[in-house]
Amino acid sequence: MAAAKALEAQALAMRDCRECGLCQERTQVVFGVGSPVADLLFVGEGPGFNEDKQGEPFVGAAGKLLTELLGSIGLTREQVYIANVVKCRPPGNRDPLPDEIETCSPHLMDQIRVIRPRVVCTLGRFATRLLAQTEASMSSVRGRAKEQEVAGIPVLLFPVFHPAAALYAPANKTVLQEDFLKLRRVLALGRDALAGARAGDVPRPEPADDAPAEAAALGAEGGGPGGTVGCAEMEQTCREAPKAPEKQLKLW
Ligand code: URA
Repeated sequence: MAAAKALEAQALAMRDCRECGLCQERTQVVFGVGSPVADLLFVGEGPGFNEDKQGEPFVGAAGKLLTELLGSIGLTREQVYIANVVKCRPPGNRDPLPDEIETCSPHLMDQIRVIRPRVVCTLGRFATRLLAQTEASMSSVRGRAKEQEVAGIPVLLFPVFHPAAALYAPANKTVLQEDFLKLRRVLALGRDALAGARAGDVPRPEPADDAPAEAAALGAEGGGPGGTVGCAEMEQTCREAPKAPEKQLKLW
């Protein structure tokens, strides 16, 4: 498969990366994991202690929650792709610095150009700032889809809280759970809405659509607690103007 080979080549090319200071204390570059043709891409901040040791993103406590949230909408880690803004662990799990992000983000853009996801779910503020190009707070943008070009690829961008933010704050976990229900819907709508804008794409198999959470996600669209106005508006717009997907879904 061409995409798998391209990602392998990228990972190999940056295995000994020394482009920024993060190379000094990392154990290994944590490139990314998942389906090379995933419709849904998650982008986190950067590897933590466990990721640095194991070489795979989101394998620690936050990763366990991410896997659980994926399961709640009928998806596995193998069906999506998971990557980070920076590919090497910032020492002591500190925030990545602006120059580290600037240096490393072209590798993420390369990944996106190969994977060509329909939906990019940014996990937390670093990925959201970078890909949505906004300084807005996570609270104001989370759980709302925005049509945007990322690395030249038209996608639906869907920011959510970082799973780590939910580990110690049950309120954040509830918000994240609700946002994942919306994400399931955004993914379905993203496949339809972007079909015209993605003329060069090879059709991909649809995943099984039998997640119990789906009914809950759709049922929640009436504006219940937590609010899913974004999804309801998006669905309405899709119905009204199916021929101009690039003009739709301006939700923030
Ligand atoms: N947090 C992240 O942002 N990325 C990981 O891979 C792990 C934890």
